[in-house]
Amino acid sequence: MKAHDGMYIGGRWRPAGTSDTIAVINPADERVIAEVPAGGAADVDAAVRAARAALPGWAATPPGARGAFLGALHDAMVDREEEFARTLVAELGAPARFAARVQTRAPIAALATYAELAATHPFEERVANSTVLLEPVGVVAAITPWNYPVSMIVSKVAPALAAGCTIVLKPAEDTPLTALLFAECVDAAGLPAGVVNVVTGYGHVAGQALAEHEGVDHISFTGSTAVGRKIGALAGGAIKSVSLELGGKSANVILPSADLPRAVAAGVGHVMANSGQTCYAWTRMLVHSDRYEEAVELARRDLSGYAVGDPAAAGTRVGPVVSAKQRERVRGYIAKGVEEGARLVAGGTEAPHATGYFVAPTLFADVTSDMTIAQEEIFGPVLSVLRYEDEEDAVRIANDTVYGLHGGVWADTEEEAVAFARRMDTGRVDINGGDFNTLAPFGGYKQSGVGREMGTYGLHEYLQTKSLQL
Ligand code: NAP
Ligand code: MG
Repeated sequence: MKAHDGMYIGGRWRPAGTSDTIAVINPADERVIAEVPAGGAADVDAAVRAARAALPGWAATPPGARGAFLGALHDAMVDREEEFARTLVAELGAPARFAARVQTRAPIAALATYAELAATHPFEERVANSTVLLEPVGVVAAITPWNYPVSMIVSKVAPALAAGCTIVLKPAEDTPLTALLFAECVDAAGLPAGVVNVVTGYGHVAGQALAEHEGVDHISFTGSTAVGRKIGALAGGAIKSVSLELGGKSANVILPSADLPRAVAAGVGHVMANSGQTCYAWTRMLVHSDRYEEAVELARRDLSGYAVGDPAAAGTRVGPVVSAKQRERVRGYIAKGVEEGARLVAGGTEAPHATGYFVAPTLFADVTSDMTIAQEEIFGPVLSVLRYEDEEDAVRIANDTVYGLHGGVWADTEEEAVAFARRMDTGRVDINGGDFNTLAPFGGYKQSGVGREMGTYGLHEYLQTKSLQL
């Protein structure tokens, strides 16, 4: 077990202001692997002060030079790539291959795009007789969830730094080790003291103190809609700008003309990835009634290929969920699905392993849109297949949710799929399995959030405008 006794504040490792600690548990074997400080209001205050003190200097650093620091940070992360991946397996339970590729390499690559963007983005523009300056919004509070720890940190810190903001990061209590590793990379990259600060701690203590701190100008939050609502209200009260990346209940719409086996296989993979803990996962698969049973059978067969077990083992595709609390939550939803009359085709509430927070990959058919499992975010390896009668019905079901984060559409032609995608109330849609694009805006319609991350859209969240009339 590794004990961390400090937090990264003002460019050095500072002892915590409290003696409280958080035990970090490996969800695959339930063992305590580390302890980190549970930061309190005093730690948050010190971090915000450090970020404030560093702001004028960082904001005045030319964007190209900020880009060079981001480049150095990128290189420092590349040096520690294997350690990031190993830490993600240990603290999150992410299957090793997924941890290495999707959870580590992809965010490091995304960081490089911001190094370039900082150097090339025009931070001023001309509008008739005005010059519009795009200036940093100030000190940023970044509050991140546990499901994609490194990606969530990078998707906030990289654009904020590129924009000229300074940051205080509060990572999720379940996955603080990758955040501390990230702080070591910040240090190794030689970023000026106070530009990036990391405070570990509980959401209702350190997170709350950070969001409330009057020295914070902008809050960037990713997490549940319940906490997002609180953060939004708090930001409103203090007139701070805020971006919220929240929950999802995304629809994967398979139109009658689609390549059914391909669409079903991709849909199953989308939900099982990261052991079912992806905010934008296509947790609702929509299939025309004519091909419904065929799709359910294909999904059942595909699902049987998802081996559940030790995330460190090579063949594992589904690891444990992150915590005992999440396991109970997911099992509760599975029980609710059965209770409300959905047909359990595979999986169920039975634990596939005695030790570790495992949930069996689960498939429900005959799910109707009014059922709890079709409405609420489950955040586990659970896929629901819903039936539609015609295109109007499919549009209605796809949009019958308070969320609007993502979606998928499959059809014979791109035109047909795009026409359907235009009718979806959601921030992002993959057409016939289009690849994830880290430069395209990411964010939600409706209660999935406010604001966008990634690429230039993400950068703009951290900029405010000043117009000079000439
Ligand atoms: P969460 O409970 O909302 O926590 C998110 C972060 O907020 C954590 O760092 C948490 O700290 C902190 N927090 C909790 N209560 C707080 C408070 N009162 N004030 C300030 N901060 C507080 O969410 P989660 O369970 O970690 O993550 C799962 C959720 O995130 C899902 O709903 C998922 O859909 C969503 N998510 C969305 C996106 C997206 O881009 N839209 C991406 C990933 C995840 P603790 O860890 O100590 O509780
Ligand atoms: Mg939480």
